[in-house]
Amino acid sequence: MNKQGKKNPEICEQCEEKTRVVLPYGPHYFCEKHFTKFFENRFKKTIRKYKLFKPKEKLLVALSGGKDSCVLLHLITKYYSKSNSIQALIIDEGVKGYREKAINSAKNLCKKLKVDYTIVEFKKEFGVTNDTLMPLILSNPTLGGTCAFCGTMRRNLMNKYAKKLKADKLLTGHNLDDEVQSFVMNVFNNDLNRLKRMNATSGVIDYEGFVKRIKPLYETPEKEIITYAAINEIKHYSEECCPYSWTAKRNEYREMLNNFENRFPGTQYSILRFFEELKPYLKPKKNGENKITHTLHECKNCKEPTEKTYCKTCEMIQRIKKEEKKTKNKNNEKDLTHLSKYNKKLTCHTTKNK
Ligand code: SF4
Ligand SMILES: [Zn+2]
Ligand SMILES: [Zn+2]
Repeated sequence: MNKQGKKNPEICEQCEEKTRVVLPYGPHYFCEKHFTKFFENRFKKTIRKYKLFKPKEKLLVALSGGKDSCVLLHLITKYYSKSNSIQALIIDEGVKGYREKAINSAKNLCKKLKVDYTIVEFKKEFGVTNDTLMPLILSNPTLGGTCAFCGTMRRNLMNKYAKKLKADKLLTGHNLDDEVQSFVMNVFNNDLNRLKRMNATSGVIDYEGFVKRIKPLYETPEKEIITYAAINEIKHYSEECCPYSWTAKRNEYREMLNNFENRFPGTQYSILRFFEELKPYLKPKKNGENKITHTLHECKNCKEPTEKTYCKTCEMIQRIKKEEKKTKNKNNEKDLTHLSKYNKKLTCHTTKNK
């Protein structure tokens, strides 16, 4: 800072080193060491502020091998391995040529950090993979989107294995960008119920069959996660995105919000703060949504919580199996080649790394 109290963009605001990282929303100017400190302090502050977990609780980190979950595991072991027991859960959705590489990164990080891990596969658990789902969904769009299927099945397995492994909390790598995108998506879709459930901890539903999901990177911008991983040499898989990510509507929101953030730094934090201020007005009514906890019971098939006879995942799988029988068109995959143009147009590479 100079005598007028103004920051010098060339020099770190905490020491005399040259600026290496600029955060336009502050603005903040940091050398690598002070950026790391700033980043880690915010991470620990989020955990305290939202009371995400307590000492001695068993933490299960959902690890994909991508930057968010790898940085999350790195930070959790760095600061909480003495106070908490930590394990990782790796889910293999079955995406040939992509998932194996990301899983390798995840396994390597666990070995480096001496964290025990468990791998669960869609194929073994559900008898389907994302690769088998995709042709079916594209031949019958009324079934829904691949990401909707994939996300529902993943949440089912995360909860199931969090219980199996006796975890108190399940940690996911959702970051600030993800949360803001979800908020705007819910506004655009007029989905107030889903918006009410958004938080640094999962849902409004307190039910013993659900292990609480928590998001320690809730206030951390995605770009800074990439910078932090590079500075601190946290190896993660970043060469390509899931080939089905172009099907996600979320990409459109990511692109729009990235444009706003670039032009008007701080937009994403503004949206998050607005949501935080709105939250008290969105509390579920006393006799309204909370009623759901009384109607929950175990799914007849997989034993996960549901209000119906079968849970959403099992219903989805039943629909897929029916569709599989109906079409029996093994050559469907060939017809997907024309879709590669979208793959180039809207992947997280072109939208996320802006
Ligand atoms: S991009 Fe979609 S299909 Fe691919 S892993 Fe993510 S949720 Fe699943
Ligand atoms: Zn410095
Ligand atoms: Zn089920």
